[in-house]
Amino acid sequence: MTATTIPLYRDDFYLATAEGVVTAVHEDGSVELDQTCFYAASGGQLGDTGFFERADGSRIALGETRHGESKAIILHKPLEGEALPSVGEKLVLHVDWPRRYKLMRMHTACHLLSVVCPFPITGAAVGEEESRVDFDMSETIDKEQVTADLMRLVGENHPIYLQWITDEELAANPGIVKSKNVRPPVGLGRVSLVCIGENSAVDSQPCGGTHVSETQEVGAIHIAKIEKKGKENRRFRIRFGSPEVLA
Ligand SMILES: [Zn+2]
Repeated sequence: MTATTIPLYRDDFYLATAEGVVTAVHEDGSVELDQTCFYAASGGQLGDTGFFERADGSRIALGETRHGESKAIILHKPLEGEALPSVGEKLVLHVDWPRRYKLMRMHTACHLLSVVCPFPITGAAVGEEESRVDFDMSETIDKEQVTADLMRLVGENHPIYLQWITDEELAANPGIVKSKNVRPPVGLGRVSLVCIGENSAVDSQPCGGTHVSETQEVGAIHIAKIEKKGKENRRFRIRFGSPEVLA
């Protein structure tokens, strides 16, 4: 049996710990809960890892979090060999916070890149050490300039917040979607717009991922590489830290 899980992370990106009650344990070991602070992989962002803490203090280590047949289903997959909880069991959920926070910073950096580089996005993958964003563009662009523009936005410390719109409102305004191949997070009745800057002055983009709350939290980032992937596709690789070579 599967039930829907309340995705607590949707309303609080900084929630690293929560309580949950097991509602289902599947044959492959995947665990469903009544609610969770674990982000399920989607929109290019990796799912959370971490552990469940049982009443006796023992731990169940988790290797991945992903959606089931629908976005309403969130499956927590214990690592191979871990004990499995029982239906009805109450657990304390602990997200691997240092990893998730890196993903939030990286994910936010991808939004900033889409501001600095205003071309249609054809793909994106948010990772802990490196993220990539593919753009539909044929222009040659200077990566040092892109890095400088990104760091200006980081330094200006713009607020980042969510605005909720209905699936219908999104359908009526297709122009607000920047990604060509990445579907906006529709299907739950409401869609979150990630807004950057007062009154969305910097950007607003439908996205169901997790983001930091001020651009300064992104910290030092740089464009490590811009690769040409076909005539009209450029792949940007974002990494943490300052560029290694400065004249
Ligand atoms: Zn996002």
